[in-house]
Amino acid sequence: MRSASSKWCSDVKLAMFSTNGHARVGVVDGTTIADVTSNRPDLPGDLLDWITLGAEALERLARLVDDAPRLNLADVMLLAPIGRPAKFLGIGGNFESHLAEVAHLGMTRPLHQIWFNKQTTCIAGPYDDIELPRVSSALDYEGELAIVIGTRCRHVTPEDAPRVIAGFTICNDVSVRDWQFRSPTATLGKSFDTHGPTGPWLVTSDELGDPHVLSLRTWVNGELRQSGNTAEMIFDCYKMIAELSTVFTLEPGDILATGTPAGVGAVKSPPVYLVAGDVVRVEIQGIGAIENHVVAEPEY
Ligand code: MG
Repeated sequence: MRSASSKWCSDVKLAMFSTNGHARVGVVDGTTIADVTSNRPDLPGDLLDWITLGAEALERLARLVDDAPRLNLADVMLLAPIGRPAKFLGIGGNFESHLAEVAHLGMTRPLHQIWFNKQTTCIAGPYDDIELPRVSSALDYEGELAIVIGTRCRHVTPEDAPRVIAGFTICNDVSVRDWQFRSPTATLGKSFDTHGPTGPWLVTSDELGDPHVLSLRTWVNGELRQSGNTAEMIFDCYKMIAELSTVFTLEPGDILATGTPAGVGAVKSPPVYLVAGDVVRVEIQGIGAIENHVVAEPEY
């Protein structure tokens, strides 16, 4: 048994997807997705609603697979698993290899967890475009494992933290470096619209197993830029939940981006930033991959 303490025990990949502009929840199985609510207008169509209903509801959702029509994954558009979480937070300086590469910038090993907000409006789907802002050319990537909270909670110990996690997904903590570093909060540089691609689905905790042994890789235009492992985390996922829930209530659907390994573009000499036309792919063992094209910010 991978995590006896977890009550989120469905071994499934849960996705939000759309066909013909109609968004709904699905259960991923290999190269297909079970359209579990297509004939059930009485059931919630949004994954966040199912998570909020609790673990038993997710078990029920998983059981709907047997009678559901199957669609080929290639024929649907996958969306962000949680389209508008109540909170979207990221931790900084949390991977040993990333700390080593930024040491010359004066960043030292953190004594305490360093958190910033990504505004929830920056959430994007797993294959959506990333916009290169008109106001900056310092656009950078950060491949990251993201925790999705399953249970409303406060004052959770690290030992109890697995029980409040619904599952995990992939996040690109896209960062606009000049805007990030000109303010001590980093919030503006982390929050441009489209700068929070997530997905391609939510992998429940028991399906994924230990979240601290996963290889994490990022490519730009097919060139491997980041190759790390979640074992590098200075503060692990459970300590993160303990720290945050000391301060405020965590709620179902809240997303916590857990930090990035070495290889970001900003620390190259000279820096190598993303430009329109680039393709960024982030892959995490046991979850899958997200892939996003960089485009110029459109006129408004
Ligand atoms: Mg980050």
